[in-house]
Amino acid sequence: MRDNSFIERLIRPEIRALKAYHVPEASGLIKLDAMENPYAWPAPMKAAWLEALRDAPLNRYPDPEARALRARLREVFRAPAGMDVLLGNGSDELIQLILLALAQPGAVAMAPTPTFVMYDMIATFTGMRFVGVPLGPDFALDLPALRRAMAEHRPAVVFLAWPNNPTGNLFDEGMVETIVREAPGLVVVDEAYHAFADKTFLDRLGRFDNLLVMRTMSKQGLAGLRLGMLFGHPDWLAEFDKLRLPYNISVLTQVSARFALDHLDELDRQAALIRVERERVFAALTALPGLKAWPSAANFILFRLPGAATPVHERLRRAGVLVKNLDGTLPGCLRVTIGTPEENDAFLSALRSILTG
Ligand SMILES: *Cc1c(COP(=O)(O)O)cnc(C)c1O
Repeated sequence: MRDNSFIERLIRPEIRALKAYHVPEASGLIKLDAMENPYAWPAPMKAAWLEALRDAPLNRYPDPEARALRARLREVFRAPAGMDVLLGNGSDELIQLILLALAQPGAVAMAPTPTFVMYDMIATFTGMRFVGVPLGPDFALDLPALRRAMAEHRPAVVFLAWPNNPTGNLFDEGMVETIVREAPGLVVVDEAYHAFADKTFLDRLGRFDNLLVMRTMSKQGLAGLRLGMLFGHPDWLAEFDKLRLPYNISVLTQVSARFALDHLDELDRQAALIRVERERVFAALTALPGLKAWPSAANFILFRLPGAATPVHERLRRAGVLVKNLDGTLPGCLRVTIGTPEENDAFLSALRSILTG
């Protein structure tokens, strides 16, 4: 533009200072950068899904409350009695609804860091202040530091990704519960990776008035669908629901998600394959000279190279494998999503030849 003064006068300074969320070009590459499930559905299941979509009423607005889908989600994920679920266009939208509702002047959102970047980004979008509290050795929660930070900043919400992204670990369960107990505001336990972890706070919802549990279908094979879930007391959800745009879950998503929930055995089978591969990739990474990998309860592994990460990231890309470069936040570190056995082999052999060749 010739004259930027309109933008400088009108756009909020914290928005001008942001960089747009960057998604790297992946065409032709083995895509192990974004925690996607690598498996397609078996052909008969795909045919049955298309059949279910055939009569989806695209000429009508979707059910704004997605009642049938929500009922099925409460049942399948065994939401405790008296708890409800709010749906978002991905859990990113749910984070946005929560923060929009909490964004009073001066309000703070908090999370242990490094963690999922959207908590920080969306807090900024809504005008909240984000406070990150560094994790301790091997990415364990630093409970004394969190206690001090909660006392100093009185966060309206604390986000705990459990397992955490990008580190892959499950924080100590007792410490998470302590934070829920002691937090001055809401605590959102983000269980985006629950399918790979076998642990949940969902059954504790009724015990704590300030606890919400968030999940997503994205990491279970439906990243393209965009469906996030927020489980909690109906009184909380009713407030967030006021900020939700009325038809945020499309007809196609509602039909497809109900179909997927009727075939959860297939999604679970895929998650089990990914967990087996995760252990194999972890052992192979650990065997590489000078490389440190952290145990993961998710569908990805964080590892630190003996030297700089960016040149290795680039050489992997040239060898046809895209992983996530975390050099900016965690020096020397890359994050690899678990793919099919063939994809993992391609990644491991490329990495091996870069490090030893
Ligand atoms: C991937 C991820 C999400 C986002 O999920 P969507 O439902 O795809 O928006 C949320 N939380 C964490 C910790 C994640 O890693």
